[in-house]
Amino acid sequence: MERGDDIRGELRDLVTALKNHISNGRDSINPVSRLSMKGEPTGRREENERGNLLKTMGKATARDRRTLLTLPGVREELGECTRCPLSRTRKNLVFGEGSARARLVFVGEAPGEEEDNQGRPFVGRAGQLLTKIIDAMGLKRQDVYICNILKCRPPGNRNPKEEEIKTCEPFLVKQLEAIDPEIICALGTFAAKTLLRAETPISSIRGKFHDYHGRKLMPTYHPAYLLRNPDAKKLVWEDVQKIMKIL
Ligand code: SF4
Repeated sequence: MERGDDIRGELRDLVTALKNHISNGRDSINPVSRLSMKGEPTGRREENERGNLLKTMGKATARDRRTLLTLPGVREELGECTRCPLSRTRKNLVFGEGSARARLVFVGEAPGEEEDNQGRPFVGRAGQLLTKIIDAMGLKRQDVYICNILKCRPPGNRNPKEEEIKTCEPFLVKQLEAIDPEIICALGTFAAKTLLRAETPISSIRGKFHDYHGRKLMPTYHPAYLLRNPDAKKLVWEDVQKIMKIL
């Protein structure tokens, strides 16, 4: 059987399972595990889960992708996550907030103290600055979607560890697939490096659109960096103007 037929068959199965799920009112489907189920040993299946999802989703239409994943479904799958040690020190898991149909998604690094207290993304001083940037773009927070690579606060706001990113990132990938935005704005070095799999400093990659699995990704400075370096605000403003031109 051709690979295209395979994918169409898998999508057909998934849509059928989703319909059953809706009519039965219970969780009868895990789209990611279904996508990676055929003919793969268990270890490799888990390892390749993210790659399989993106590969298959990349060949599906936007409508197909939205049918397969929903934000509430991703949130439900994440649950009261204990997949990495950050679960032991967090107060609240910070999933993300905003429009489930946002054309623009902001992705930061991880929750800080205030976000951990409130269970909401970007609500501290840096978050207030991000809200001002969004306002200046002529948008409201509820028009966009805001989330982080990590859903739990690293103690003392230390840098995320590679293992934590590896464990948590698949849920970000699913959030992005569920929302299906036109543009992703990566805030700061960690978000940009993680999404683009690049070691290049943010100063070299900001201000230009990069490809992220068929979507435009604009890296720019994190609002927390702007609080320490107000001169960089004009660079961020240049970057968001490029986003505004497309929106
Ligand atoms: S950071 Fe992510 S993987 Fe780790 S416990 Fe929180 S939600 Fe789970």
